[in-house]
Amino acid sequence: MERALSDVICQGFDDSVLLAPGSVTTGNNEMYKVFTPFKNAFLRRLREDLPECHRAPAMRQSGALSEPGSPVTVDYPQQPFDAERFPADEQSALTRLRDFCQHDLARYDADRDFPAIDGTSRLSPCLTLGVLSPRQCLHRLLKTHPEALNGGTGAVWLSELIWREFYRHLMTRYPELCKHKPFIGWTDNVQWKTPDAAFTAWQNGNTGFPIVDAAMRQLNATGWMHNRLRMIVASFLVKDLLIDWREGEHYFMSQLIDGDLAANNGGWQWAASTGTDAAPYFRIFNPTTQGEKFDKAGEFIRHWIPELSAVPAASIHTPWQWAEKANIRLDYPHPLVDHKRAREATLAAYDAARKGTRSVVAGG
Ligand SMILES: Cc1cc2nc3c(=O)[nH]c(=O)nc-3n(C[C@H](O)[C@H](O)[C@H](O)COP(=O)(O)OP(=O)(O)OC[C@H]3O[C@@H](n4cnc5c(N)ncnc54)[C@H](O)[C@@H]3O)c2cc1C
Repeated sequence: MERALSDVICQGFDDSVLLAPGSVTTGNNEMYKVFTPFKNAFLRRLREDLPECHRAPAMRQSGALSEPGSPVTVDYPQQPFDAERFPADEQSALTRLRDFCQHDLARYDADRDFPAIDGTSRLSPCLTLGVLSPRQCLHRLLKTHPEALNGGTGAVWLSELIWREFYRHLMTRYPELCKHKPFIGWTDNVQWKTPDAAFTAWQNGNTGFPIVDAAMRQLNATGWMHNRLRMIVASFLVKDLLIDWREGEHYFMSQLIDGDLAANNGGWQWAASTGTDAAPYFRIFNPTTQGEKFDKAGEFIRHWIPELSAVPAASIHTPWQWAEKANIRLDYPHPLVDHKRAREATLAAYDAARKGTRSVVAGG
């Protein structure tokens, strides 16, 4: 870019991150591969010297730019999104940031895992699109909660902003990640199943697991999904359906209004246990108990799956059992897989890949 603008003075700023990639390293000048020591080093740097927010450049007075060329087109489908919940203009983003820090942060740690509660900032699209910079978030956070830098209120939210940095720093240090290579090489030996009707059912929110389906319907309808749900649906695709995490990563990018190469890749590699500091491969979420834990009464599920509105709270996570007992015909699919059997097949596939052999996975 700088070379193309040969007669223009260019200045670069690291404003899409808090600290420049490559500037938070171990004593051996290496990128950290584990989040917690990275975060601790990161916080030490912030305590020493806060990164500045740069002012927007002044309007050019002369030297009109030439006519723009033809616009670049992207082949992803355009989905409608909720412009009220996710406003795209800077003023609304700043107001949301201020309100969140002032009123919602105190409850963030308690509420952030429950998708029926509006407990997170919902600022990810603004950060991804550059409507807000992470530095504006940091400065606003410290204005309302200076104790966040030392483990007080706001520290958990700051930690999430640092996860965002972690994945960006990793991608800069290991550019193969941009090419969707797994961080842990042997995981490329896992024998994934071909994405077929099960993949389509996952995409459309028709797997028969209510929390997974409600989450996917939220994604398809709004272009956004709650973080806890991203972890649940990603784990389900990879570890219950044994479908390559890259299929899910690609589908997310096609739907998300906050689609971000580094955070999305990091999230998928975390869920698939192929990334650095990822969930160990034998850690497999049970989609039913995850639903019971994080949407106990089924409030979120009922919102997105109206077909289940009559199911009592005690049965909302296993509606097919309730329907069978009550002899009621539900307009909702039976579960796509038996979780216990799917889990065993996945463990066998990962074990075989780790030992360098490929297992033949039969059924789900
Ligand atoms: C499979 C998977 C895919 C994901 N894909 C994306 C993506 O494409 N774009 C994206 O911005 N986030 C992604 N995330 C991270 C996270 O789910 C979202 O950032 C979060 O849900 C956004 O909601 P929020 O703004 O209310 O977050 P808050 O809880 O308010 O957090 C504040 C900010 O911190 C950052 N952040 C929070 N959690 C994470 C995280 N785990 N990793 C990296 N950054 C984080 C985001 O910029 C977020 O806006 C993904 C997570 C998973 C498990």
